Amino acid sequence: MYFDTHCHLDFPVFDAQIDQWLKKLQLEQVSHICVPSVGPSNWQRVMQLGKRYPDQVYCALGIHPCFLPVQSDSIAQLTNLVQTHRHVLSAIGEIGLDGRFNNDNQQEHIFAEQLTLAKTVELPVLVHCVKRHHRLMPMLKQAALNKAGVIHAFTGDYKTASSYIDMGFKLGVGASFMWPSARPLRDVLSKLPLQALVFETDAPDMPLPGHKKGDATPLDVINVAKNFASLRKESTKMVIDSIYESSCMIFRRDA
Ligand SMILES: [Zn+2]
Repeated sequence: MYFDTHCHLDFPVFDAQIDQWLKKLQLEQVSHICVPSVGPSNWQRVMQLGKRYPDQVYCALGIHPCFLPVQSDSIAQLTNLVQTHRHVLSAIGEIGLDGRFNNDNQQEHIFAEQLTLAKTVELPVLVHCVKRHHRLMPMLKQAALNKAGVIHAFTGDYKTASSYIDMGFKLGVGASFMWPSARPLRDVLSKLPLQALVFETDAPDMPLPGHKKGDATPLDVINVAKNFASLRKESTKMVIDSIYESSCMIFRRDA
């Protein structure tokens, strides 16, 4: 079985044929998909997916750093939603820092507030980080979450990876490592403990080699898993089973 720990299944490209997608995924043994939100604009849609397909879709609510600014009461709204719907949520996300914008203070403020929320409601976090590990890591340390979570689409070096792992985080492994130019990332991933990794597609955004951005689908998780097993030179079944199990542990909803 496969668990796609990060997929934007609520985006129109999938949402228009959501029943067919979920049937197909089930048939191909992609039994679980974690769907993060990006902000107030899709909170309801993501939650509806989670409620409609509770066995397959695990959902997360949060404000993504690339989707700022948000209205000043958005954190209050998010807190309210999360507290009311805690039983259908698997994480707070996706949240984090992205160095490609010029609003570091605003991003850090929103991120810190969401870490506090995650701690209060005892949920793990789905973290997006681009060029800001040096700022993000101390914030995560300070937050001292009860349940860590996933550093999604991880592309950093071995030292950064190990620091997150020491803090209890899992690292999200997607199609990026399969691109010919991604040798440094392959070197890092081949050395990390298997228990610290989970698979993801970030569909529709993280294409397989030779494909365009926007072409990714949650079915790609199968390809990612098989390629990753051969990179590690380990048994495909062992890698797939073990990563599936740790993914289930992170997102398990309390009954
Ligand atoms: Zn994402």
